[in-house]
Amino acid sequence: MFIVWGKKAVYKKLGFVADFCTICRCAQPFLVRRIGMAGHVYYITVGEGELVGYDRTCQACGTSYTADAARYQSMAKKQAPLAELMRKTFPGFAAYWADRLSLEEKVKSSPMLLAAEERKSLLREAFLVLSPSVEKRFASTHMDKEVGFAVLATIGLLLAVPALTRVVAPDQAEVAVLVAMAAGIVLVIWQIAVSGRRFMRRDVVPLLAKSLNPLRPKKEEVTAILAELKTHGHKIGSKLKVADLLDGLKPARVVLAA
Ligand SMILES: [Zn+2]
Repeated sequence: MFIVWGKKAVYKKLGFVADFCTICRCAQPFLVRRIGMAGHVYYITVGEGELVGYDRTCQACGTSYTADAARYQSMAKKQAPLAELMRKTFPGFAAYWADRLSLEEKVKSSPMLLAAEERKSLLREAFLVLSPSVEKRFASTHMDKEVGFAVLATIGLLLAVPALTRVVAPDQAEVAVLVAMAAGIVLVIWQIAVSGRRFMRRDVVPLLAKSLNPLRPKKEEVTAILAELKTHGHKIGSKLKVADLLDGLKPARVVLAA
């Protein structure tokens, strides 16, 4: 008998803390999880596995970071107002993030006066924070709802076409089914092919826009960063179209100009 076994990551929710989010550019509530690697048989694991680390996910924007659990005084079982959460879980927040918070003040008040290197590293940082989620997305084939609709449409075609052909042109039934099948396959393949760009536009661009807009990035700056990331093998550099990113940045530019 063939037995499926191996190791798999096991996530355990530990609680909520307050910490700094690079995408939101401020303090936010986070959910902290313990990550363990446990042996599995048919993907069923027992226990929490050997500790490999922790992650924290911003409850405002959904971005995940690796976490240092020792940083927190405690973890709250439930979400609470941010000030209360900070007092209970990370009272040293202001001191720990002092340099970063003063840099964020500069970003807010005069982003164009930041030193060139400071500005470049702040811009690049947002892409690097989001890079792991892009790597994960493109590591396997994903079905979003549009791909699901294409599969349903194909099934619908394969049911409707033979029934229709039997009535209209019974001698063409086989050809009609083959044409319907080919059309369905083309539709599904096309939707899978464009789903990557859809993910970038829908899930990545809004987060990048949120983080980059306060810096009022120029087209040349984001183009150069994407090229650099692509050279270093980051998928975000090759999968993200500059035009899609600039489209996402536009609304805030209009607000800033108003
Ligand atoms: Zn956030």
